[in-house]
Amino acid sequence: MTFNDFGFDSQLMEGIEALGFETPTEIQAQAIPLVLKGNDLLACAQTGTGKTAAFLLPIIQKITEQKHDGFIKALIIVPTRELAMQIDQMMEGISYFTSVSSIAVYGGSDGSLFTREKQALSSGADVVISTPGRLKVHLGMEHVRVEKLEFLVLDEADRMLDMGFYDDIVKILSYLPEKRQNLMFSATMPSKIRELALKTLRHPSEINIAISRPAEKIKQEAYVVYDNQKIPLVKLLLKEKQYRSILVFCSTKQSVKDLNRELKRAGFNAEEFHSELEQRNREKVLLDFKNRKLNILVATDIMSRGIDVEDIDLVLNYDVPHDGEDYVHRIGRTARAESDGEACTFINEKEQGKFQRIEKLLGSPVFKAHVPKILGDTPAYTERSHDRRNGRRKFFQKGKKKPARQGGGGKKFIKP
Ligand code: AMP
Repeated sequence: MTFNDFGFDSQLMEGIEALGFETPTEIQAQAIPLVLKGNDLLACAQTGTGKTAAFLLPIIQKITEQKHDGFIKALIIVPTRELAMQIDQMMEGISYFTSVSSIAVYGGSDGSLFTREKQALSSGADVVISTPGRLKVHLGMEHVRVEKLEFLVLDEADRMLDMGFYDDIVKILSYLPEKRQNLMFSATMPSKIRELALKTLRHPSEINIAISRPAEKIKQEAYVVYDNQKIPLVKLLLKEKQYRSILVFCSTKQSVKDLNRELKRAGFNAEEFHSELEQRNREKVLLDFKNRKLNILVATDIMSRGIDVEDIDLVLNYDVPHDGEDYVHRIGRTARAESDGEACTFINEKEQGKFQRIEKLLGSPVFKAHVPKILGDTPAYTERSHDRRNGRRKFFQKGKKKPARQGGGGKKFIKP
């Protein structure tokens, strides 16, 4: 599945491209068609799965199909100001080339801030992102024009209930028009969430994005390198550690072929495994690997599911896998049954954002091992909010202006 399959407007597609999103994540693939169809949604998904874009994209698409009339169309309620800011940033990036406007309202104790929020809310943004307490106050004072509201999103609903926002949410619901589309996202589904879902959602479609976790006994580590250090590092590690059975994953057929050629040239007992290989050859390579006649198998992701070999000593991710599920799946090839195993991942500069997303999903950072000095300096491993930064850079390069809102308004990035 690609983003083209959703039939998005070309300006929205430009935003997606500028953020560097190539393929929809699992939750996006499942949720976007349902939201576009108009269904209510109850989604069990954690941060890191791409859930924010799963609700922002179809909502922006639906708003771009309408004329702007100065009324709020979507309300996104979140537990914390940090999350409100994060969603607002993604909103800015995704909607940059469209004419959809947004504001984030997350309050604070400063009185002048409240006045600015009030002004911003009255000026009629299409999408409002807010924390429950602050929103309840503004709704109570009638600053928020919700009579034509079409979408309500409750994000991280379980966290909002943990923080004691249940009553505020119920109060907020009482201000909203009855006819609207409701989307609820939660990392867990305790009974209180089901209760809130019953109150809020109408015949919801349900999605459950289960995140598996790697087995505890797998020793995981990662090397932060420049791209041209990857091949020398593989050779060094393989020489140093003397494993019997090593599975190396690459993201493309070409890198499988290149790496295998290099390893063979350096005298390693390696073979390649990818979809171009004839069935007969595939079977022979796999059999040799199982029987330990072959030490190193260099394979593409696609083929990883067909490799059922016990007792692999090391899984080496030559490229960072596409997402957390792929990572867990790849490294799960080691430490099968009773044995322990090791998994190591090479991260080049471009892949840092992707790996940080995986770490977020795993719930903890993976240990970064020391790259041997002989390979020279290595890049720093730095926090990437890659959507905003990459997106922005591209926006500036393109030098495009945001199009004016059809039918009036058009005010963008109104900040409280
Ligand atoms: P979220 O679960 O919404 O917090 O998203 C986690 C991270 O995944 C954010 O850094 C997003 O920018 C990134 N992300 C979301 N969707 C995609 C995608 N389709 N491709 C690549 N990265 C994505």
